Amino acid sequence: MRQGTGSANGTDAKSFDFGSLPQVKQLMMQRALADRMGIGNPFFRPHDALAAGETLIDGRRYDNFASYNYLGLNGHSHVVEAAKAAVERFGTSVSASRVVAGERPFHGELEHALADLHGVEDAIVMVSGHATNVTTIGHLLGKSDLILTDALIHNSVSEGARLSGATRLNFRHNDLEALQNLLVANRHKYERVLIAVEGIYSMDGDFPDLPKLLALKQEHDAWLLVDEAHSMGVMGNTGRGIAEHFGVDPNAVEVWMGTLSKTFSACGGYIAGSKALCDYLRATAPGFVFSVGLSPALGAAAIASIEVMKQEPERVASLQENGQRFLEKAKAAGLDIGPSAGYAVVPVIVGDSPRAAILSNRLLERGINALPIIFPAVAEKSARLRFFITSEHTFDQIDRAVEIVAEELAIVRGADYDVSALLA
Ligand code: PMP
Repeated sequence: MRQGTGSANGTDAKSFDFGSLPQVKQLMMQRALADRMGIGNPFFRPHDALAAGETLIDGRRYDNFASYNYLGLNGHSHVVEAAKAAVERFGTSVSASRVVAGERPFHGELEHALADLHGVEDAIVMVSGHATNVTTIGHLLGKSDLILTDALIHNSVSEGARLSGATRLNFRHNDLEALQNLLVANRHKYERVLIAVEGIYSMDGDFPDLPKLLALKQEHDAWLLVDEAHSMGVMGNTGRGIAEHFGVDPNAVEVWMGTLSKTFSACGGYIAGSKALCDYLRATAPGFVFSVGLSPALGAAAIASIEVMKQEPERVASLQENGQRFLEKAKAAGLDIGPSAGYAVVPVIVGDSPRAAILSNRLLERGINALPIIFPAVAEKSARLRFFITSEHTFDQIDRAVEIVAEELAIVRGADYDVSALLA
C-alpha cells in the first residue's frame, strides 16, 4: 500500500505506508482496545522536573519509583556545576569520533575513574549503554563462538550476541547448574565461550553467585561478562558493585560493563577490564570508532558523580537501607516480589499485562509513579510493576507506597476485567 501525494517537483512518488505492516496494525489495535477498556497509556508521560524520590507530571507532585537515579546524583550541585563548566569550555558536542578530532581530556579522566572504581587496568566509554553491549559483544565474538546468557539478560546483550553471529544459548535465570550443564555439553564444540550475566538483574532485582561463576568459567576456559548497569553504586559497602559485595578480585572477570545513565546521572556506557581489551576496543569496536565521542556535559557529569559517590558513602548506605525497607514491608504486606534481593530494583508481580497497566494508572491517581513491565519485556504471567529505589526516598514514602500498592492490587486482582482480547 502507498500513501502521500506527489512531490513538489511534479513526480507522483509516494512513501510506503508503515501503517499497513501487520505488526504495526496489531500495535494500533492493541492501543485502541486498551483505550476502549479505559486502561490509558502509562508510557511516555512527560515529567516536568528532575525525577528523584519525587517528580512532577502534568503539574501534580508524585512519589517517584520509576527513575534509576540511584544515589540521587542527578541534579546534585557538584554534578550540575561540572557539566556547566564542561559545556562552557568544550561546547555541547565533541563534534567527531574520538579517533579523529573528538578526543577531549575528560574522556581519559572518566575512563581512569571508572577503571579505578572497578579495580581493573582500564576502561573505555561509549555514547550509549545499550550500544556498548551491542558493539562489544558483536565485535569480540564470532561464528565459531558460543554465548551463554542468563534467561533474563538485558536486550542489549541479546542484540550483541545476534550481531556477533555466535551460537547463543540461554540458561534458566540464575541457575548455575544449568549453566554448568551447557558448558559440559558444548564447550568443546566452540573456539571461545562468553558467559553473560548482570550484577543485579533489571527485571527481578536479584544477583548471581559471582564466586561460583568465576569457578565455572575458570574450569571451562570461558570468558565472563558482568553487566553492572544496576549494581554499580548499589552493591558493596562503598557501592563498587558485585565484586565488592562478594570480595572477589575484579581482575578475574574478563569484561565489566556498565552504564553512565543510572548511578552516574549521565548517559553512555563503558567497558572496564584489561588494558589489552580496552585498547583493542578503542582501535576497532565499530560502535566506538565510527561514533561520536561522549559529549562534554555527560562526561563531566559522570566524573563528578563518581567523585560525590566516593566522598559521600552514606548515599550508598541509605540506598541499601531503603531497598531493604521496601523489601521487608512488601513481604509483610504479602506482595509477590519474586526473588528480589532488595537493592535498587524491586518488582511487584501482577500476573498479566493489562492489570499491570491498570494498577500503574490507579497508583498514579493516588500520587505514586511506578511503571508496568509487560509482555514481551517479561513473560505475560509475570507482568509486573517495577519499583526503582533510590537513596532519596524516605521511609515514609516507601511505607506509604507499599500500603497503597497492596490495597490497589487487591482491587485490580478482584475486578472482572475482560483482558482476553488484549492478550490474543
Ligand atoms: N544493561 C542493562 C542491564 C540495562 O538495564 C540497560 C538499560 N536500562 C542497559 C544495559 C542499557 O543502558 P542505557 O540505558 O544506559 O543505554
